Amino acid sequence: MNNCIFCKIVDGSAPATIVHRDERVTAFRDLHPAAPTHILIVPNRHIDSVNALEETDADIVGHMFVIAKEIAAKENLADGYRLITNTGPQAGQTVFHMHLHLLGGRQLRAMG
Ligand code: 5GP
Ligand code: ZN
Repeated sequence: MNNCIFCKIVDGSAPATIVHRDERVTAFRDLHPAAPTHILIVPNRHIDSVNALEETDADIVGHMFVIAKEIAAKENLADGYRLITNTGPQAGQTVFHMHLHLLGGRQLRAMG
């Protein structure tokens, strides 16, 4: 999609610290980390948000979680980590290319 920063990171035209890349998803470090480990996992194909998901996207969403688990292991997050997908402005979504935040490396507070 035009002018989508995460599409540009996926296609290599914008820089990022990539930690995983395969034919379906790309994972890279957040520019403004909120925890010692803060990685974003995105589908390579542009999907605006969870609201745009269709039944045929179930595989890619599942794959994002499996990759999140594998990255968490590589990042030594055996004590725990959090996966978050903000959906819509009131939830704090600022980049409208669906992504999973993987946060860990410190005690995370209750959400609200
Ligand atoms: P959201 O607020 O949409 O849930 O999360 C967007 C995340 O993307 C934020 O944590 C923000 O720091 C991160 N972000 C925004 N632009 C860039 C960028 O150009 N590169 C990287 N690596 N992260 C970005
Ligand atoms: Zn995109």
